[in-house]
Amino acid sequence: MEPCEESRNRIFLYLDDELRGAERAALESHAHACEACRQALAEERSFLDQVRARSATYRAPKELRLRVEGIVRHAPVCVAPSHLRSRIRRTIDQALPRAAGG
Ligand SMILES: [Zn+2]
Repeated sequence: MEPCEESRNRIFLYLDDELRGAERAALESHAHACEACRQALAEERSFLDQVRARSATYRAPKELRLRVEGIVRHAPVCVAPSHLRSRIRRTIDQALPRAAGG
């Protein structure tokens, strides 16, 4: 896998604080040296910040949270390809109203 493709596939894991040790260092090192991946990382971080900022408005019931956490806990680790993540992002952007100033 190309270094950029590998980094892009791991950005979400990095931003969710799921990378450790050499994996984390490798992504940080690549993003430091690669303008395109540094930009992609900044965009994903901004997107996640917006989602997290909106999540306070949309609280899931406790039962739903527990069910989802159970599903996620037992799901195999899977990284969606970037084109699919872009589609998901567009869908969320269309479904949720823009935050004030966002
Ligand atoms: Zn790169």
